[in-house]
Amino acid sequence: MIAQEQKPMEEILGYLDGKQKVVVMGCGGCATFYHTGDKKAVNEMAEKLTKEGKEVFKIVLPFSFQACDIDKSGIWLEKNRKEIENRDAVLLMSCGDGVQIVADYIDEKMGIPKSVIPANDALGLVGGGPTKFKETCQSCGMCELGKTAGICPLTACGKGLMNGPCGGVRVGNKCEIDEEKDCAWVKIYERMEKLGELDKFIEMRDPHEWSKAKRPRLFEIENPVNIMTAGIGALPGFIRLVIGPKPKLEEEGKGE
Ligand code: SF4
Ligand code: SF4
Repeated sequence: MIAQEQKPMEEILGYLDGKQKVVVMGCGGCATFYHTGDKKAVNEMAEKLTKEGKEVFKIVLPFSFQACDIDKSGIWLEKNRKEIENRDAVLLMSCGDGVQIVADYIDEKMGIPKSVIPANDALGLVGGGPTKFKETCQSCGMCELGKTAGICPLTACGKGLMNGPCGGVRVGNKCEIDEEKDCAWVKIYERMEKLGELDKFIEMRDPHEWSKAKRPRLFEIENPVNIMTAGIGALPGFIRLVIGPKPKLEEEGKGE
């Protein structure tokens, strides 16, 4: 998921300066998860903007309808074409990906040149939960985890080193450039030891190949997922999850 937090109101109001009529749109994907695009967040934003004298129209994308997935968000944009046409700007409560994809669609497909303004700051690809999340991958395009016992040297090591620790590991195995953080290479060593793979530690790894990180990356998939068939296909599993027996993990008291 893309972690995100809402921008300061002063910044948002600065972007909306001179724009009286505003559509506030919330993303039903990551932004909903981080409460920066769900119904409550959209309502609160609308309330604040109304207090500032703006005329607001709200669009809340349903849960799992991501702004960046134009196949889904486009349905809501088309449904609200009139309102979008009549407003001075769209304030999009999503990551920057959603903002650009929606702006593109409104411009190119709907033929309505319109300012689409970001309400959020995206903070990267994170995992974990339910309350604490960590950035573990920077989508480098060529995964090294197979060489480093499943710990990312590019993201977890402050210097992105590929062949063992730098000379600055602190007392307590903390990172030289961030004393709050454990040294990634000590963790890689310990995990290799646990897995009985210490021989891999001394293997010389090639420098990371950054050529796949050139931007913007473009790719295609042959068979896009159809939201109707995917939804119906997932239904039996979802029902089992809701009404079925508790997962073993939870029974053993290991679940969240
Ligand atoms: S090496 Fe790290 S940044 Fe690259 S894909 Fe793997 S986990 Fe992600
Ligand atoms: S102390 Fe460890 S994590 Fe920090 S920069 Fe050096 S090798 Fe990387």
